[in-house]
Amino acid sequence: MPTVEMESAVDDAGKVWPAQNKWNAKNRNKLRAHRAVAAALRRHELKRGKCEVCGSFRVDAHHDRYDEPLNVRWFCRKHHQQLHADLRRASK
Ligand SMILES: [Zn+2]
Ligand SMILES: [Zn+2]
Repeated sequence: MPTVEMESAVDDAGKVWPAQNKWNAKNRNKLRAHRAVAAALRRHELKRGKCEVCGSFRVDAHHDRYDEPLNVRWFCRKHHQQLHADLRRASK
């Protein structure tokens, strides 16, 4: 298999987007926020919390605002996805 260095991106809700996908500005903001969190965690500037709902330690960062990349809340995969599903419903 040829190795094409196409960078794929994982968004805030854990969905993987192939690099071929044309990202709009909002998604780029999202990715930037996600990367800022990963970098801050590596540098110990940010500490991983627990899921706000169930207290699980296996958490992802959730952004209320992508223009505040280090202003995050922590949710496990399940409750994170649930939150996004609720947000999607609420925005319709
Ligand atoms: Zn949870
Ligand atoms: Zn989120």
